[in-house]
Amino acid sequence: MEINDKTKYTEYQGSPNRYDTMKYNRCGNSGLQIPAISLGFWHNFGFVDSLLNARNIMRTAFDLGITHFDLANNYGPPYGSAEENFGLILKKDFKNYRDELCIASKAGYDMWPGPYGNWGSRKYLISSIDQSLKRMGLDYVDIFYHHRPDPNTPLEETMLALSDIVRQGKALYVGISNYNPADTERAAKILDELNVPFVLHQVKYSLFERTVENGLLDTLEKIDVGCIAFSPLAQGMLTNKYLNGIPKDSRASKDFTYLNEDQVNNHMKKIQGLAAMAENRGQKLSQMAIAWLLAQKNITSVLVGASSGDQLKENVSALDNLQFSEEELQLIDNIVS
Ligand code: NDP
Repeated sequence: MEINDKTKYTEYQGSPNRYDTMKYNRCGNSGLQIPAISLGFWHNFGFVDSLLNARNIMRTAFDLGITHFDLANNYGPPYGSAEENFGLILKKDFKNYRDELCIASKAGYDMWPGPYGNWGSRKYLISSIDQSLKRMGLDYVDIFYHHRPDPNTPLEETMLALSDIVRQGKALYVGISNYNPADTERAAKILDELNVPFVLHQVKYSLFERTVENGLLDTLEKIDVGCIAFSPLAQGMLTNKYLNGIPKDSRASKDFTYLNEDQVNNHMKKIQGLAAMAENRGQKLSQMAIAWLLAQKNITSVLVGASSGDQLKENVSALDNLQFSEEELQLIDNIVS
């Protein structure tokens, strides 16, 4: 294992300036604050990826004030390997920083074979959190999510499982992801009755994906639950990287991903229009895309992915300009519609 190789290992000390520039937002009406920009582990942290690069991304993130790391049982590939690599790096580099980190994991998608390794049963969720904690070498996660709604399991059963996970001390707060407005409201009511701190809904939201504007954002405001936006860069399309073709090491060119060349090409006209507009603002497209999300009401955090520390630095610089004029907002709507 690369990071166990003493010739390559260097001690990590978090930057003393790490809290100087990041902004922290409260999750709904809870006491929990998370950074305006958080780091996701869906890609770039599996056994197929370089552990040294993964470590560099984590160190860069923490030095930038990113205290929130978002994982799930099945991130990799293979499934479970992002949590395992995260656990390795945590043990080596972050053992003195556990109380400065807000770590999330999830269960809800396909994880292991058979009827107990998918969806939303109590059986699945309780086993999965135990497995996740073991892989990461943690006693508890800060946030545990149900990753997607399960049409065949009573919502009461899924929410009671989340509640019991909190009661057992395996998670401090809970969240849900990909639920529609009606089920979100029902989940909130059940969790409220169970006295469980429901802090975040994790939603797909970007300049290219605005479904949540048709009700879910209003629901979250009404029930006072935070909102964290995933795939804010549309998996990399909302950056300058595809403007001159598909780079060899990009997500669109890799196996095991959910982005392909056709998707990029279909969006190219919009990407070009937005990139030109970002340039006029003195920003990269990635920075404008993140700033635009943070300018929407009730967005607690923007959950980015990164395949390098440099990408993360670029993305965090979005915080330098979060202002949009009415004309700019209108122009954006015209370009993406
Ligand atoms: P993004 O939309 O931020 O895409 C991240 C990818 O874009 C990077 O891996 C990189 O890809 C590229 N990129 C990022 N910054 C730059 C930059 N400055 N310049 C050029 N390219 C850049 O987010 P993800 O789709 O990765 O999702 C983020 C997180 O959200 C996940 O890690 C996960 O934690 C969560 N998530 C949750 C889901 C859910 O159902 N709840 C579903 C999906 C994600 P490249 O490899 O091409 O360099």
